[in-house]
Amino acid sequence: MKFLRYEYLSIVNWGWLLEDKIGKIEGDIFGEYRRFEANIPISEVRFLPPVIPSKIICLGRNYASHAVEHQVDVPEIPLIFLKPPSSLIGHGGKIVLPPQSKQVEHEAELAVIIGKTGRWIDPEKADEYIFGYTIANDVTARDLQKFDGQWTRGKGFDTFCPVGPFIETDFDSSDALITCKINQQIRQMSSTRDMVFPVEKLIAFISSIMTIEPGDLILTGTPAGVGQLKTDDQIEIEIEGIGRLENIVVSKDG
Ligand code: MG
Repeated sequence: MKFLRYEYLSIVNWGWLLEDKIGKIEGDIFGEYRRFEANIPISEVRFLPPVIPSKIICLGRNYASHAVEHQVDVPEIPLIFLKPPSSLIGHGGKIVLPPQSKQVEHEAELAVIIGKTGRWIDPEKADEYIFGYTIANDVTARDLQKFDGQWTRGKGFDTFCPVGPFIETDFDSSDALITCKINQQIRQMSSTRDMVFPVEKLIAFISSIMTIEPGDLILTGTPAGVGQLKTDDQIEIEIEGIGRLENIVVSKDG
């Protein structure tokens, strides 16, 4: 099933998708909820990030091809960092280029949505903690990331984490095609089978450090082909089996 959050007639709700119509959901999508008839045309809503996470945990260098393009080694254990929840925007939202950076780049990624609280999760049981999947863009101010050495500033600006449009609960993460187009030109194209550490190992690793909670997002890393974003760029990230996340790029005063 596809879940989303949306604004319609100035009211924010959780919803579910049936073809091109949205139905309201009342309650907690991670617990008890009630679905209403799908009667709102998808074209009439504003998409919001489909989750409200307590944290966004991201993987660095989880595709060998991306490590090669940055001339760094693939890590021996997963390399993780955090993005703040304030960086989230939804499908159709605007990525704002911060004046502090001259090199903002896109990173198309598969994102996992956690469905229940866990700690020290066995990789064989990781599946039980996955609620679903969505599409994410780990937008990065590459110059600031390199200058600082650690990544909070370069990855943490407001609008630097577009996600959506939906949570897909019926998805196989072992071999799905990820494509990123900028102004219709293909920049990234790869399969999730090329991940260094698959989703189950990531959940086991992360939960050996911190408690994961319902709604938490795990961004699983980007394949090769990252590149610079400019004002007015149109970004389309597609993951086979989930859908397409679209955003545009604006300057701070634009
Ligand atoms: Mg990334």
